[in-house]
Amino acid sequence: MIHPGKPRTEIPHSRSRSVVGDRRCPAAVPKDPTPCAGPHDAATLVDRLGGEVVGCVTHLARHLAGADGTRVHPFTPPSRALDIYSRARELPPAAWKVGK
Ligand SMILES: [Zn+2]
Repeated sequence: MIHPGKPRTEIPHSRSRSVVGDRRCPAAVPKDPTPCAGPHDAATLVDRLGGEVVGCVTHLARHLAGADGTRVHPFTPPSRALDIYSRARELPPAAWKVGK
């Protein structure tokens, strides 16, 4: 039998709200309120111990600005790596602490 009056419930109504609140890339620091920019897997950073973090260009740049010995992964396309380094150069370490 067909039930024409049955409402469609596949998409929860709260879905769009959670994208803003807690759906940021893994590189976003919890204390940093800035939103992501672009894909959440834009590039990877490698720290001096070999640890890696994937994220959007905004949060990778913010992470890079305060992390000695950290660099963009060598497999990152050069234009994207330059974008991240350029953004990081404009930021102080832990930019969210000074309202940047
Ligand atoms: Zn992000």
